Amino acid sequence: MSDQPVLPTLDDARQLLAAADSLLTGALARARVLTQNGKAIDDHQVLAERVAYAATEARAARELIEYAAGARREGRGDAWLEATAAAGAAELVASLVARLTPAVDDLGIGDDALQASFPPDLRKKLRAASNESVFRAIGREVAGRRGRNETPLDETLEQVRSSVREFAEKEIAPHAERIHRTDDLVPEEFITKMAALGYFGLSVPEEYGGYEMGNLAMILTTEELSRASLAAAGSLITRPEILTKALMAGGTEEQKKFWLPKIAAGDLMVGISVTEPDIGSDVAGVKCRADRATVGGVEGFVVNGPKSWCTFAGRANVLALLARTDPDMSKGPKGLSLFIVEKEPHRGHDFECTQPGGGKMSGKADATIGYRGMHSFTVQLENWFVPATNLVGDQGGLGKGFYLQMGGFAAGRLQTGGRACGLAQAALERACEYVLDRVQFGRATVEYGLTQFLIGRMAAKLAAARAITYAAALAMDEDERKAAPLAAQAKLLACDIAVGITQDAQLLHGGWGYAEEYAISRYTVDALVLPIFEGVKPILELKVVARNLLGE
Ligand SMILES: Cc1cc2nc3c(=O)[nH]c(=O)nc-3n(C[C@H](O)[C@H](O)[C@H](O)COP(=O)(O)OP(=O)(O)OC[C@H]3O[C@@H](n4cnc5c(N)ncnc54)[C@H](O)[C@@H]3O)c2cc1C
Repeated sequence: MSDQPVLPTLDDARQLLAAADSLLTGALARARVLTQNGKAIDDHQVLAERVAYAATEARAARELIEYAAGARREGRGDAWLEATAAAGAAELVASLVARLTPAVDDLGIGDDALQASFPPDLRKKLRAASNESVFRAIGREVAGRRGRNETPLDETLEQVRSSVREFAEKEIAPHAERIHRTDDLVPEEFITKMAALGYFGLSVPEEYGGYEMGNLAMILTTEELSRASLAAAGSLITRPEILTKALMAGGTEEQKKFWLPKIAAGDLMVGISVTEPDIGSDVAGVKCRADRATVGGVEGFVVNGPKSWCTFAGRANVLALLARTDPDMSKGPKGLSLFIVEKEPHRGHDFECTQPGGGKMSGKADATIGYRGMHSFTVQLENWFVPATNLVGDQGGLGKGFYLQMGGFAAGRLQTGGRACGLAQAALERACEYVLDRVQFGRATVEYGLTQFLIGRMAAKLAAARAITYAAALAMDEDERKAAPLAAQAKLLACDIAVGITQDAQLLHGGWGYAEEYAISRYTVDALVLPIFEGVKPILELKVVARNLLGE
């Protein structure tokens, strides 16, 4: 076991990725045939999930290699960045091969495909590039830097990141533990300070009062806020972001002019209300009703029904609420419309609002193990009046709510990739600090090979999560619709990686990792929510990623 391994190069990683791509191409082609171009995914769910995840790993490996190569071209980064990218890509390729191997018979490609894609010399290269000695060397280097995130960026983005980092460390981090442990609500100062810094308007176009900094600036902001606290800051801009995208895609000009400047200024906090007690993943089956009514001489709709898991519904001034405007359930998604439902903000774990016309809205926060600070509510609406002008898209928006909401979720997923990276980053830093200080059997635990290996692998995985998320952000700047599947892949992988990294970091803390006193215990429970919302993992894999890869 050499302590000075030959570190893999980006060229090594490219060769390994090319081999993985050839195996994957064969697997995808067969999966398309078996699923009749995605129409019969439900008859082959396990297989479809496998190839969807493998394709996500291949994409992340490509983005990781390209990110490091781009940094080298621009004179940024260093040898460790390249070695981490190459080893991270090799690890993803090894995982892809292991994932597809049990399915080669079901796919009908057999062992031959494996042998052909990975001849002996490439198998040897793969073993060398993902060898433990490589990850131990990376781990020593990362721990020495205390896990700091030094991912190279251009000057403008570097400024964005460092200013948000400074803000989050000074203003958010000192309160994060208290908010988590007391299940408190996000303090108003967080909102006013973030609003003053323009964080709520990062992706609102300038003509509507925003700053239009682009999706990568928004991701870097989210990442740094989430590093301080996923729940009390990192998730605050997700909801306005989702509504912004829905309004941009389907709102009337009047609606954009009315709502977007208020969102950008942070004057309006938003809740997203899609899920119902009986309706989760099957969004097209939403039952909450919005029926036409005239109240106090104003035309509009009365909304009736329960909603669940509406995060920040108490403090929110508006809920972006999906409701059925066509009672004919056979219309499925085409019977749904999206409303901007106004309400008074409340700062408690429950609330009740009433309207002069008799409408009532009540909410009760469901206690959760983590992700505390915004509170997620079960909400009951009874004859709650919403003016017709609050139907997104006005009359033209009738029946389009499902599609607008799904477009909004694509942006939400990108954000969640950023949230996952920020949380994983925090866990990596805490782990490095702990293993440098903790002495057992007469040595700091960082001196043990297994610790170094775990730290090195965490850093390489986090680099992969970041690379695919940043790539999705840039792709979203180009074409939001086309980039939606990549944003879903970024969310899928980054969230899994955040769960894995927080758990590894917790283990490296030993018993103290289970103590509330150490932030790692908060990170671990917070991370668990990431693969659940904005499309629970199995649904994201099957109905978004696999459908996109296998469909015509
Ligand atoms: C803390 C928190 C905050 C949230 N915030 C919001 C919010 O602000 N707004 C909002 O609207 N929602 C929110 N949600 C809800 C979240 O989006 C849903 O929980 C999620 O979409 C999954 O729905 P569900 O919980 O009903 O699970 P279900 O849809 O019941 O799925 C449960 C499991 O069943 C399996 N399953 C279901 N269907 C299939 C299938 N076709 N094929 C294979 N397996 C299947 C999967 O394993 C899945 O994981 C939040 C949830 C949490 C926990």
